[in-house]
Amino acid sequence: MTRPPARRGRIGSAAVGILVMLAAACSGSDQPTGPIDDVPGDSLPVVYTLPVVVHVVHNGEPVGAGTNLSDERIAAQIRILNEDFRRKPGTPGFNDDPVGADARIEFVLASRAPGGAPTSGVRRIDASATANPVPQNDLFPYYAHYGYWDPARYVNVWTMPLPETAQNIVLGFATGPQTHLPGSDLLLDGEPIQPEGILVNAAHFGPSSIPSPFNRGRTLTHEMGHYLGLLHLWGGRDCADNDFVADTPPVMSPIISCVPRVGCSGLPTQTANYMTFADDGCMNLFTEGQVERMREVIETSPRRMGLPTSPGLGG
Ligand SMILES: [Zn+2]
Repeated sequence: MTRPPARRGRIGSAAVGILVMLAAACSGSDQPTGPIDDVPGDSLPVVYTLPVVVHVVHNGEPVGAGTNLSDERIAAQIRILNEDFRRKPGTPGFNDDPVGADARIEFVLASRAPGGAPTSGVRRIDASATANPVPQNDLFPYYAHYGYWDPARYVNVWTMPLPETAQNIVLGFATGPQTHLPGSDLLLDGEPIQPEGILVNAAHFGPSSIPSPFNRGRTLTHEMGHYLGLLHLWGGRDCADNDFVADTPPVMSPIISCVPRVGCSGLPTQTANYMTFADDGCMNLFTEGQVERMREVIETSPRRMGLPTSPGLGG
């Protein structure tokens, strides 16, 4: 948790460079994982389904108003996440890029809480009525104070009830996985340094009509990419190592907006890639190399490899 630019989450272009830093990596869990091509008679990798709990931290509004996001909006966000990770035809998540890939990773709201009780996978916390002794600058500990489910079994997502002035400036943050993969030091620390999960500005969670290039639910797609080990395409901002993924053309500085430019290799930058700061409206791409990296994390990383068999899925 000590490096400058890359390990932050996603921020709006207006704030590139000004945002605060956070922490990075994680560790510890279990669960056996077989080879990914282990379906008899089927050459396709298995589909991993990961349970998500959404902690809606709000300012005391009724459900569906302001930062107390409606169940419908949360469901729409999960749908978008799946369209993007599954590169679903007929949706904004589809692409026909030669290196584009279906990650075969899906997400569902948890149906069982820790302890086994049925749950909707959505928790609502009125921050205006809940004392929180944690300094607000310690983002992940601060939000985890409102609720934190075992990260070896659930992907924790918190929506942040930020003022309107934060729109387009603060979009989201994610901790990275504990992994042997190179470049993971560029991601924010998770356990045991600090609670791990994903923070999204409520205004940018799910589809909405706010005046913003970030109103189509792609902030969570981007942050989930970090959570599963992906770096920004510009990685540590050097043309040599970059994001440690071979099929994303290297680039030295953040990709912003939908207009490609020429990257390190002379190739156009990949503005459609979810791991950029491009507008939601032009994103539709995870590459084969990125998918391979995310699946490696799910298969080997503590607190990621137990997710596909989590009791939170209801099984
Ligand atoms: Zn990011």
